[in-house]
Amino acid sequence: MTNRPLLSVDGVTVDFDGFKALNSFSFILNSGETRVVIGPNGAGKSTLCDTIIGRVRPAEGHIYFEDVEITKMAEQDIVRQGICRKFQAPGVLPELTVSQNLELAAQRQYQWWKSLRQGVSAETRTIVEDMLERIELTHRKNEPAGLLSHGEKQWLEIGMVISTGAKLLLLDEPTAGMGPAETRRTAELIKSLGDSQTVLVIDHDMSFVEQLNASVTVMHQGKFLFQGDIEAVRQDENVAAVYLGK
Ligand code: ADP
Ligand code: MG
Repeated sequence: MTNRPLLSVDGVTVDFDGFKALNSFSFILNSGETRVVIGPNGAGKSTLCDTIIGRVRPAEGHIYFEDVEITKMAEQDIVRQGICRKFQAPGVLPELTVSQNLELAAQRQYQWWKSLRQGVSAETRTIVEDMLERIELTHRKNEPAGLLSHGEKQWLEIGMVISTGAKLLLLDEPTAGMGPAETRRTAELIKSLGDSQTVLVIDHDMSFVEQLNASVTVMHQGKFLFQGDIEAVRQDENVAAVYLGK
């Protein structure tokens, strides 16, 4: 870990018709770290991701990525800076094969018809073969992605997000709908990134959070509540009050 801020969220407020989904929220992500964000339902976790990626505009505050202000950039320009987001529901292209989905991501080519016409470079092929192994879908690589189980689709999409090579990966509830075994493998996959990519994970499955062994930020009512390792989070009285008072 280099301890250089990759992302700075500085005093961000998001106002939905008078309701503050984020309320002067600030935090910093260092380059190479994996950070988990937890908090009760409605705490503003997904809104935080939406705001970082430029889908929701803050009323106040600033967001910097590698010292470049991205607060007012268009979503596609933010993606081009090197941020990639996975949504709660799987977003694979069901008609394309598992391999083709990964090829599109690895080529960062979302106009898939163009990409399919241009063919796949040797470099992309290597990235895709490697990711197929890591997500254990090599044996299904030529099947349409639509035939995968829910958990496998989630997994494929995490593989796609990683394969983009983006510097910052935003994973909003990556284990939603997964069983314990798949959840464990997802934690292993994220841990295998080491410090090569910075990851912001939103999840409320505490066993998954524990397996990730990462620093945890707790949000409540759009505000920063606490940060520390999982043990410190467990022992903090304010965090306990928020969860018990849910
Ligand atoms: P979390 O992901 O932590 O469960 P969200 O960020 O999805 O929470 O939502 C935070 C709060 O903002 C919730 O009360 C939600 O109802 C509200 N909210 C989210 N998006 C919108 C929107 N587009 N318009 C109005 N309210 C919204
Ligand atoms: Mg959410």
